[in-house]
Order: sequence, then structure tokens, then C-alpha cells
Amino acid sequence: MQTTKYIFVTGGVTSSLGKGIISASLGKLLKARGFRVTIQKLDPYINIDPGTMNPYEHGECYVTEDGAETDLDLGHYERFLSVDTSQANNITTGRIYQTVIEKERRGDYLGKTVQVIPHITDEIQRRIQALGETGNYDLVITEIGGTVGDIESLPFIEAVRQLRYNLGMGNSMVIHLTLIPYLKAAGELKTKPTQNSVKTLLEHGVQPDVVVGRTEYPLNEDIRKKIALFCNVPKEAVIQSIDAYSIYDVPLLMQEERLDLVVLNRLGLPDATLPDLRSWNSFLTRLRTASRQVSIALVGKYVELKDAYKSIHEALIHAGAAQDCKVNVHWLHSESLDDMTPLEIEAQFRAIQGVLVAPGFGDRGINGKIRAIQYARENRIPFFGICLGMQCAVVEFARNKAGLTDAHSAEFSSQTPQPVIHYLQGQSADMRKGGTMRLGTYPCTLTPGSHAAKAYGNIHISERHRHRLEFNNDFLDVLEKNGMKATGRHPELGLVEIVEVTDHPWFVGTQFHPEYKSRVEEPHPLFLGFIEAAKAGN
Ligand code: GLN
Repeated sequence: MQTTKYIFVTGGVTSSLGKGIISASLGKLLKARGFRVTIQKLDPYINIDPGTMNPYEHGECYVTEDGAETDLDLGHYERFLSVDTSQANNITTGRIYQTVIEKERRGDYLGKTVQVIPHITDEIQRRIQALGETGNYDLVITEIGGTVGDIESLPFIEAVRQLRYNLGMGNSMVIHLTLIPYLKAAGELKTKPTQNSVKTLLEHGVQPDVVVGRTEYPLNEDIRKKIALFCNVPKEAVIQSIDAYSIYDVPLLMQEERLDLVVLNRLGLPDATLPDLRSWNSFLTRLRTASRQVSIALVGKYVELKDAYKSIHEALIHAGAAQDCKVNVHWLHSESLDDMTPLEIEAQFRAIQGVLVAPGFGDRGINGKIRAIQYARENRIPFFGICLGMQCAVVEFARNKAGLTDAHSAEFSSQTPQPVIHYLQGQSADMRKGGTMRLGTYPCTLTPGSHAAKAYGNIHISERHRHRLEFNNDFLDVLEKNGMKATGRHPELGLVEIVEVTDHPWFVGTQFHPEYKSRVEEPHPLFLGFIEAAKAGN
């Protein structure tokens, strides 16, 4: 018997319409009504995963519990729904082809010509249904990356067409998100791009059940009727997605538009239980009415592209809202700090209550990061270093406080006599790049009384990793003697996962990425601790 129902979300006209946020918002509403929901993203590129892509290309690479390097939309899904995702939630064309080609080499298709239809489309369908077949979900929302009409997306759309047919129409539906542009000269919203986009979808045999129109102005009755008429959907299935104050308002806007009801009715599911959004709403209220403010400098090398630090930015917002505090993020380019005079550095940080140094790879901007850390340490400004940010904090402390003047990370200097950060066992600079880092969740034991232990309220934690290098324990003694303590260690391997400077209001560096686990309704303890310390210094 068919139990799991499938919702496909496609996009038309242009990219960047917010398919991920619409999918996450719908998922949130359905989960808040008691359904078991998960969200999956299909990406049309040939990379096996985004782990090998530059953040400028793709934004942040989001890491799941099981160590999958995935699209940043999975971060939205986890933050909105408070659920864990996994490798099965993010599939790329590269991964689909890799599986099919491996099967071909094994001889699984012996005697046959291997083709896009049926072999690639079958593999896509198998991956979509794999989540449903776990029996863990009432609803699987599958977001199809790219724009309808792109050559790359065609096999995905064809797989959806076949799957809908195989599942039976009442067991699946398609939501199509398009742009409704406003022409200033004509003073009008225009529906033609939407009509054309739905026609393209129809050419591929897929009739959408719902059309979501992304718009800067409200859709009036006439526009809704027109879209309904030309796109063959009932008028109530024309949903307005208007610019929002924050992405976290979108679930409520979708509820006002009755998107959840339209979906449940279309799939023949009960709609009597109303969504329980109490804690979501109280977050939104706190977000709007925060009476305090803090300014946090986010130091990184990709700051022109805010998406490169998506999870960190959202984690700061969650933690701020929980503490009645609006967080103003000042994006600081690490490279720009490289050549500044001390006075210029001082000017950059004068109005800052907390410094966060971001993760990253490669040596561009490293000196700028080290200078930012030195400034925060010496001026007793709360500091939070994440992954590379923690590694730079160790280098800075070793050089400027512990007298190890040549200290460096082996990532940037293979010759340094004081490699305070070195490659993890089994890792090196010249290994195959894809999926080979230390990835996913590892346990960590905290030192009682440390800032970290106070923040978590617990000494046994687990957090997600993505790195090749690690604190070099040969230097632990000298650094500890000088006041930098290892306050979080891997329970068996002894790897240093957290460092803290003791003579400082709040100076914490983590080898792991806490930002991946911050959720709207469960802000991350370390981000809470950091914002609290920043507030105290304000
Ligand atoms: N480049 C460093 C490493 O591989 C830090 C990685 C990161 O910040 N995610 O260890």
C-alpha cells in the first residue's frame, strides 16, 4: 500500500526565487500539523557533491550528521523543521551518473545499452523514493534545483513525470514557483512569464497542481484568476509569495495563503489539526521587538557573498532573538585587514562587541584573521573562532603569547619548525579532494567549568566536522602553561576540539562547526554564550 506522499517543487522563469525557503516553510506548516515530513534537494550539476566547489560558486557547503557535504538549502530545512537530514536528502546529477556507471561496470546491465531513459531516470526515482521507503515519513518534499527548461534539469522533470504516473495521481503533487515581475512603466504585474514557464512544464508532461508566484506587490483577484485560467489550476491554488521582512516570516505568509490546506486537500490528507506554531511565533515576536543590539564582526574571505556563511549568520540571529537582542553583523574581509595600520584596525573594531572568525581553506586573508584575533584577545572582546578561525586563534596565541614566534599551520607552511596545527592522521595536502576530509559528527568531552561546559550545561556533546588539520598535541603543554586551554577533547583519540583563553571574558575556538546545528526553535548553546558575552560588554 502507498503510504508516503510526495510533493515536488519546481522553479520557473529565473533562479533565486526562494524555492528552498518555500519548501522549508511548507514543510514547517505540515510538520506543525503533526505530519512526519522530510525535504530533499535534487541538484542538476555534475559534481558528486558541493564539497569541491568554491563558496563563490555555490554558497556554503552544509554538512549533515552523517558527514554528507550538501547544498545550503538543507540548512534551511534543518533550521525550519528541527529535524536532521542526511546524504539521502541531497542528490546531484553527478551522484546519479556515478551510481549508474558503477552498475554498468559491474555488469548489472549486461547486454543492454545504458541510456538517460530509463536508466538515469530510474535511478532518480529510486533516490526520491528511498526516503519514503524508510517508513519514517508521511510526506517527502523534493525540491528540484535549477529552472524548468534547463537542459540539465530535464532528466529530473522526466523522472517526476514517470513517478507521478507510477505513484497514482492522488499520492503526489507538483508545486511550481515562478516570478511575477512588476513593470514600473506599465504599473502592472505581468503573468506572461508564468504562463510560459507552465507551458514548458506541460511540454514535458507535468501539470502543476499549485502555482506560487514570487512578487514584490500583492496579487489581486484578477491576476490570480488569470494565472488560474492559463495554468489550469484552481484559483485557490494560486499562491502569492511576497517579499518578507525575514525568511522566518514565510511559513506564516504561506499559511495566510492557505498553501498547507491546498496541499493537504490535493493529497487527500486530513486537515482538521491546526499547525502549532507557538514557539515559532514567539521567536518571530522576539526577532522584531528585541530591545538590545550587539554588533558582531564576521571576519572571512568570502564576505561579498553572504551565502558563504549562511549557517553562521542564521545561528547568530537565532541566538540573538533568544536573548532579546538584535545582532548587527559587520562583514569584514580578512584580506582587507592584512595591510592595515594598528590605528585602522582599531577603527574597524571600535564599535564591535564580538568577533567571529569564520571557517575556510587556503592562505588568502590568513594574516588578516590573525590580526583580528589578536585585537579581540588583547582588547578582551568576546571571540568565537570556528574551524579555520580556531586554528588561526591557536597560531596567534602561540606566536604572540607563548613565544613560539614561527608558529603556523601546516596548511600554510610545510616548513615551519612550530606546526601548532598539523594534518590529522591519514590526511595530507595532496590527497584526492572529494569527500575525504574528517566529516560529520564526532563526540567531544568538555572540561567542567569551562565556557563551553557552561554553555552546553553538559560535558558530553557531539558536533559536526569538516576539516583536514587539527591542533598539534605536541604543543598542548606550552600553550596550556601560557593560558590557552583545551576544554573539549575527543574522548578516545584525545584530539583537541575546543580551545579557550582563560584570562579573557569569552574566547572560544571550536574545531567543529556548531553553526550547522543551530535551529530557530533551538539556538546553539555556544552562539548563545557568545552573544551573551557580547551583550555584557556592550
Ligand atoms: N582548512 C582547515 C582544515 O582543513 C579548516 C577547514 C574549515 O575551516 N572548515 O582543517
